[in-house]
Formats: sequence, C-alpha cells, structure tokens
Amino acid sequence: MSTDVSGWSELIGDAARRFALRRHRLFINGAWQDAADGGTFETLDPASGTVVTSVADAGPADIDAAVRAARSALEAVTWKKMTPIDRGRLLNRLADLIESNAQELAELESLDNGKPLSAALNGDVAGTAKIFRYFAGWPSKLEGATIPVSPSGGRTFLNYTRSEPVGVCGLIVPWNFPLSMAAWKLAPALAAGCGCILKPAEQTPLTALRLAELIDEAGFPAGIVNVMTGRGATAGAALVAHPGVDKIAFTGSTQVGKSIARQCADSLKRVTLELGGKSPNIILPDADPAEVAEAAAAAIFYNQGQVCTAGSRLYIHKKHFDRVVADIASKAQSIRIGPGLEAGTQMGPLVSSLQHQRVSDYVSIGRNEGGTTITGGGRPHDRPEGYFFEPTVFVDTRDGARIVKEEIFGPVLTAMPWDDIDDLVNRANDSPFGLAAGIWTRDVKEAHRLAAQLKAGTVWVNCYNVTDPASPFGGFKESGWGRELGRKGIENYLETKSVWINVD
Ligand code: NAP
Ligand code: MG
Repeated sequence: MSTDVSGWSELIGDAARRFALRRHRLFINGAWQDAADGGTFETLDPASGTVVTSVADAGPADIDAAVRAARSALEAVTWKKMTPIDRGRLLNRLADLIESNAQELAELESLDNGKPLSAALNGDVAGTAKIFRYFAGWPSKLEGATIPVSPSGGRTFLNYTRSEPVGVCGLIVPWNFPLSMAAWKLAPALAAGCGCILKPAEQTPLTALRLAELIDEAGFPAGIVNVMTGRGATAGAALVAHPGVDKIAFTGSTQVGKSIARQCADSLKRVTLELGGKSPNIILPDADPAEVAEAAAAAIFYNQGQVCTAGSRLYIHKKHFDRVVADIASKAQSIRIGPGLEAGTQMGPLVSSLQHQRVSDYVSIGRNEGGTTITGGGRPHDRPEGYFFEPTVFVDTRDGARIVKEEIFGPVLTAMPWDDIDDLVNRANDSPFGLAAGIWTRDVKEAHRLAAQLKAGTVWVNCYNVTDPASPFGGFKESGWGRELGRKGIENYLETKSVWINVD
C-alpha cells in the first residue's frame, strides 16, 4: 500500500488536507507526543484503499500516562473549583469552534470514514456541536436533594445528596459516527466534571485528533481530555484494565462490549455499553406504500447501513409487500455510489476491507440459507477500487436465518411479509437485540399499542433514525447497558453521595 493523495486531495479543502497529511501523535496532558515505543499505524481512505497518513499507536505505557494526567487534572484546583457556569462556558466555546470549523471536520470525517460529505456536515458535525451545546447547560443544574429522613436514637438529621463526578473516564468509540460518538461521551463527562481519555477507532482517528486541538483552543485545562489513538486489543484493553480508570463508556460490537463488561466486573468499574442491533421496521396496512418505501430505504441505507439502529428487518404487511419491495429495489438502484468527498455522492464505501468482507460473507450466507437478493449483493461493477458495496435487498428468508438474526452492519435489508399483528410482534421481538424499532401507520391507537409492546430502547413512529441530545438513547437486552444523552446520559458520569448532619 502506498501513500497516494491524488484521489482525494483535489476534493478536499486546504485546511483538511494539511491536517490529514500530518504525522499524528497522542494528545496527553495538553501536549502532543509520540507513542512511548514509537509505534504507529496507518489510516486509509476507504474510497481507494490508499494510506492517508500515519497515526501514533498508543500502548499501555501511554495509556498509563494519560490516566495519570487525567487524574491530576481532575484533582487540580483549576478544574475542581471551576464554577459550573464556567464549565458550561467552555463547552459552549467548544461548540462554537466546532461550528466555525465545520467544513474541515466534515471533510476529515468523509475522508476517513467514507461517508458522503453532506451527511458528515449536516448530520455528524452539526449534531456534534448540538451535543456540546446541550450539555453546556447541565453543569449548573446538577442538583442534589434534601431527604426527609426520620429521627433516630433521639437525634434528628439533615440528610442531603451531592452529585459528584465519577472520576476518570475511558471513552471507547467506534468508526461509524466517529466525531459524534466521541461527543456523546465527552460532553456529558465534561459537564459532570470528569477527566477523560478518548480512544477513537483505529479506522477513523482523524476527527478525534482535530477535536483535541479544538478542546485545547477552547481553554479546557491540560489533561482533562486526552486523545489516545491506538488499537482496541492494546490501547482499548489497557484503558479497560487500568486501576486508575473509574468508568468505561463504550460503543461498538456486542462481542467486545461483553468482554469489557466481564473485565469491569473484576474492578467494579462503572460501565455503560451501546452495542449492536437488528431493528425491526414495521409497515402497517394503512400506511402509504410510496412514502414508506422511501423511508424504509433511508432507514437501512443511511451511512452505508453502518448504523447500530439500522432498520435491517423490514416487516411489510402482505397487502403492500410486492409494491413496497419493488419501490425499495428501484430506489436502491438509483442511489449514487461514489467517494464521500465527491459532489453528488449519496452512498460512500464501507469503512474497511474487513467490513467489506463481513458484509460480502453475510450475503453469501443469506443466499446459501435460501434467501434471494432482488437487487445488489456485491461490489458495484464500476467501482473496482475501495470498499464499495451495493445497496442490497433480500426476500424469501426464513425467520431463523442468520441474516435475519445477526447484525450485518452494511447496506443489506431483509424484507419479510406479515399478516397477523400478534404474530408480527412476536417475530419483531424474537431477537437478542433491542435497540430500536420503527412503526409506519396513520392509526394512533395502533401506534401506541405497538410502541408499548416492542422491546426496544427507541421506537420511532412515522420517522426513523431521529435523535436529539435531550432524549435518552440506548438498548434493551444485548443492545447495551444504560442510556446516553439527556438527563439519564449525564447521570452515567455522576456518583450520588448521601450526607448526614446531626442537627441536635
Ligand atoms: P469493535 O471492535 O467493537 O470496535 C469498537 C471500539 O472498541 C473501537 O474503538 C475498537 O478499537 C475498540 N475495541 C476493540 N476491541 C477492544 C478491546 N478488547 N478492549 C477495548 N476496546 C476495544 O467493532 P469493529 O470490530 O470495528 O466492528 C465489528 C462489528 O461491530 C460491526 O460489524 C458491527 O456489527 C459492530 N459495530 C457496532 C457499532 C455500534 O454503533 N453499535 C459501531 C461499530 C461496530 P479498534 O477499532 O482500534 O480496534
Ligand atoms: Mg481511515
């Protein structure tokens, strides 16, 4: 693999190009450093498979330095005694900087992850600024309570609670929404007054590194946020194992999430997990077939299908099945596939060759299980380079088939007809996952009834993939532990202390 900037360098602005081409280092205690053992890895442009640049590969010694830096910064007067209003001011300043550097951040995200630039700009980056803006309001609202405790042993008491930062937090994020997943964890952690070590995914380190510069520019004290590029099995594992880390917040695969939970059991570190999904998207008989076909295609194909909430199991009432499936297939064929940075691209490449292989394997598995692809199923003929994959629609699948049960994390939809509503609810809930679900209907009663019956952390009615910083997000069952965003989201970064005062 050689460094070849010719493909993308003409499509990107000067600021992003200069940043992307740097040799990147670790951000520890407010300073940029090489990995202690000099290790590096390469980040690639998934549209061509060529190397963009090299990035420091943090090892256990670097993680240890970052944890120590976060601990001292957390205990230093500057952060500990900073007023809540000032903590909020820093978060707002960071939101301002994200907005004023939005184009550069979006270009870096599109280059590193492959997603269309418009999605990176209007989705990822705009959403990231909103997350910091929302959590900027929280520091001054982290109230405790006074509790009406009973007198005991002839004494009376004042009892109250304090909300205190949980401490040093290890934040491990995936590659599908690199910048916004970092924000979902950093913003509440900082609002709560914690110290942070962010470990971006090895496939997509660039925006986390640019964010570190903006965090510095916003004026956060050195050491409060450390950004450690590295591999999951080394840097990530060292963070999870470190005795100086009080809490791990993780988004990624269910398999890695379970292993993190097992390790955290040993130290009883706090842990929250946002894991995989296989979300049912349900079309009722009264829905408008043209409108739902468009929406159902967007629910699975957005971000190349690499979305934990992707509407990957589409249950269409049998009355509309043929029409909706045909419409989705023609929509899939009209999606413009290309490099994320190219104007007009609607679907970029998958993030990596490994992910391309995983998705291809699932298509073979689905066909071997008796499923039929009515469109897509492999690499587009006009894209011999890069990790491109066609939007794909399966029909004729069995409910027990692996492609109906397992998360594919690519643009692969399984469309299934249904007839009886109670049977449908059982099929929709017959999954180890429980992240999200969609319902398409004009019948208000049916919408509420189904929303209550589906075992999912988020239910969308006549919409899909909508989130807001104020609304809790997370999974039932094997889709995770805890909720991010909103009030619930900040509680993950707080400990409750009960204080008793003898007032006799
Ligand atoms: P993954 O391994 O779970 O990666 C997520 C994050 O965890 C990355 O930062 C990764 O680092 C890190 N990590 C990996 N092993 C670790 C360990 N032992 N200890 C601590 N951290 C560790 O996900 P993936 O392999 O990239 O993708 C595999 C599948 O996961 C996908 O096909 C998809 O099904 C699912 N996934 C889900 C989400 C989601 O939003 N829920 C996001 C991404 C992937 P490195 O990347 O540097 O190894
Ligand atoms: Mg990359």
